Amino acid sequence: MKKIIKTMMYSLSLALTLYAGNTLAAANEAVIALAKKEQPALLKTMKELVDIESGSAEFAGLEKIANLLAKKLQALGAKTELLDAGPEIYKMFDTPEKIGRMVRATFTGTGTRKILLIAHMDTVYPLGMLSGQPFKIEGDRAYGLGIADDKQGIAVILHTLTMLRSLNFREYGTLTVLINGDEEVSSPGSRFLIEKLGREHDAVLSFEGGGSPQVDQIRLATSGIGAATITVRGRASHAGAAPHQGINALYELSHQILQARDLSNPKVGQHLNWTMARAGIVRNMIPPGAQAQADVRVDRVSDLDGIEQTLRERIKNKLLPETEVTLDFERRRPPLQATDASRALGAHAVRVYEELGQKLDLRDRPTGGGTDAAFAALSTKAPVVEGFGLRGFGSHSTNAEYVLITSIEPRLYLATRMIMDISNGKAPLQ
Ligand SMILES: [Zn+2]
Repeated sequence: MKKIIKTMMYSLSLALTLYAGNTLAAANEAVIALAKKEQPALLKTMKELVDIESGSAEFAGLEKIANLLAKKLQALGAKTELLDAGPEIYKMFDTPEKIGRMVRATFTGTGTRKILLIAHMDTVYPLGMLSGQPFKIEGDRAYGLGIADDKQGIAVILHTLTMLRSLNFREYGTLTVLINGDEEVSSPGSRFLIEKLGREHDAVLSFEGGGSPQVDQIRLATSGIGAATITVRGRASHAGAAPHQGINALYELSHQILQARDLSNPKVGQHLNWTMARAGIVRNMIPPGAQAQADVRVDRVSDLDGIEQTLRERIKNKLLPETEVTLDFERRRPPLQATDASRALGAHAVRVYEELGQKLDLRDRPTGGGTDAAFAALSTKAPVVEGFGLRGFGSHSTNAEYVLITSIEPRLYLATRMIMDISNGKAPLQ
């Protein structure tokens, strides 16, 4: 009898062990199966999004895509709103007359954790370029205008939400989605709300592209971007008859550029390059005006201040004292800097990817590009991680923007599992 009981106990514990093992595997299998199921639907969504031309300055296209997204998010169970940019707007030289509206979707769950998912719907392309880059599939590549930057990001968010719904997963407190329409012009209207939402959430996942065909990656850092413009005012005069009565703005501008060409410090990720210049009106007039612009990239917020200060000092040293020299310094975006919290959450993403037997590269130095993740991180200690979108290539190009179709399933798995683990406290947030 004792032996029988012992055998029964053993069988029971074995059964329990197997059962526990199975449910753990089953949970992941369920997510894997759903990711597989969502893959063709995600491709369809990307086509739908690519087919709407939504350059940052194309308000009608942005309205169309914003309405479509609001409808899709609502169908997934969210409370959705279309939000005007502002009231505060950080105006830059290329800020469109009418900034596209943002789509905010809020899902309320049964837990406490607040998670923010961001992506953008605008592209760098002016109207009419779709015919040059229509949606098409060739082998492992899905091509299309703005598909990598960032329509794939929106599609990954939408289908991750579909998967969570299929799993009946609602263990988050609040799941907020924000899709803006002004990222490619440095977010003049959405930066304030993104910063505020970043502050109000416990974790931020940003869905710009997740690396290249060579590297499967998420990122903890992005570059800060500035634009420095030096404007010189001189005096016009006949270049043949009375050059001495003029003040040559081009001479002064040349002097100013040359004395500000040593502000890069690659060791700390600081780069300043003069990239554009114009001067004069006609050949036979001493140029009364001249202007040059520099592209500025930094890894650290404080470096933008440092560069501006140095430039303000430098321009006081003039070649032609009678000229007027002014500096305009635009802070187009801050850098995203890696923190202990984002490193910990990033490491968790690497572990989630390992469940698929795949290796995820966790990058903590910027690659030179800047994104809205930096605004989300500007005034919070919560982790902000960039690059949850698909792997791709050819952003901001004229003929070859594509994403890798084989990256869809692992990326859907990753985003879904991250939201689940953050919600139920399995992913570290500090
Ligand atoms: Zn982008």
